[in-house]
Amino acid sequence: MKIIPFLSTIVLAALCALQPTTARAAEKVRLLIVSGGHGFDTNEFFQLFKDNPEVTVVAATHPAAHKLLRPESAANFDVLVLYDMWQKIDDEGKADFVNFLKSGKGMIALHHSIANYQDWPEYAKIVGGRYYLRPTLVDGVEKARSIWKHDVEVPVRIADAKHPVTSGLKDFVIHDETYGLFDMLPGSHALLTTEEPNSAKNIAWVKTYGDARVMYLQLGHDKKAYANPNFRQLVAQAIRWAAKKEN
Ligand SMILES: [Zn+2]
Repeated sequence: MKIIPFLSTIVLAALCALQPTTARAAEKVRLLIVSGGHGFDTNEFFQLFKDNPEVTVVAATHPAAHKLLRPESAANFDVLVLYDMWQKIDDEGKADFVNFLKSGKGMIALHHSIANYQDWPEYAKIVGGRYYLRPTLVDGVEKARSIWKHDVEVPVRIADAKHPVTSGLKDFVIHDETYGLFDMLPGSHALLTTEEPNSAKNIAWVKTYGDARVMYLQLGHDKKAYANPNFRQLVAQAIRWAAKKEN
């Protein structure tokens, strides 16, 4: 007779523990997508997210975008998607950006967003890499200006097929823009590499920043890249991972 209430308590506790997780898994990931400072195929880019039933989107453009990371607004988003190329950010903007991530939200930085905030060293630490818009002295080493090349058939190798972001993907080729002479920083874990001679080797990686999950994906110059099913799958899986819906 005593066993029944005991078991009921366990079942109830298990249900209570299960319910929020199940409910959260069914909830959509609320994206804040930031652009500005670099042109792109706008309609086709946003279509990528409209086609994803797992997300809701708020789009913001610089210079107004930083306001959306103020604490009262930041609470409305789970994952920040960067597709901007922007340099100006004030102290309040920097603090809001860092606090958003330190609160455990996620970030996906696409393509040219690696060139953001060249004069804010913390940004390179956040994104886990550096693109050099001008020759730059780093720890006493002169880094040459990074380079780019349009319309390249880029052979992509999956460097870690076991990661949730690359799960189910096989090596592929994508018509895209390459970046060369840019760096993945220590602490970043490579997911995609290429042997394309105009490109740096590491072209996608994951890392953490505080409790935030961060992914950088160099691919994604234009609508030809957005249309590539591998690109679409990478972005969709990166969103799920950054939102902590997958381990
Ligand atoms: Zn580009």
